[in-house]
Amino acid sequence: MSERKYRIGRSRTGLGLFAAKPYRKREYVVTYRGRKLANAEADRLEARGSRYMFEINSRWTIDGSSRWNTARYVNHSCRPNVEAIERRGGKIVYIARKKIKPDDEITVDYGKDYFAAFIGKSRCQCPKCRERRAERQMKYRAKVKRALLRKKPLRKRSGVVGAKPKSRPKTKSRRR
Ligand SMILES: [Zn+2]
Repeated sequence: MSERKYRIGRSRTGLGLFAAKPYRKREYVVTYRGRKLANAEADRLEARGSRYMFEINSRWTIDGSSRWNTARYVNHSCRPNVEAIERRGGKIVYIARKKIKPDDEITVDYGKDYFAAFIGKSRCQCPKCRERRAERQMKYRAKVKRALLRKKPLRKRSGVVGAKPKSRPKTKSRRR
């Protein structure tokens, strides 16, 4: 048997595809396999809950829902390590965007439409979005803490960029 290239494993969002060997940048990883459908039919199936439609162009979509399409296990990331490339004959292949180490989860950007329809910024489990949410939460907690130190009611987030509190809490230098 040839060298194992990847394995299916547990990821944050269910199952995912993980590298079982190192990949060089630009190296071929996996092909998105499935029957070719006209976009109108793909849209109908998607409306009924199909989640594995890969639109190739303005006419054709690949229905990647069968289990033998290993690429269907590749999850979305806003900072992906593979990208989808169209090859002749409407074939979609995933190519490494950067070096991939064994055991790294293989991820691709699903694109704006899919993201908006099925994932959303507040639910995306990719490292970039988790980091962004954690940072926001930290900033918010720090703001609450500052407000408590000032003993002033916390104003709602104004959304004004660069807005600063008028008086900063004085830090006590002496300890009791
Ligand atoms: Zn994300």
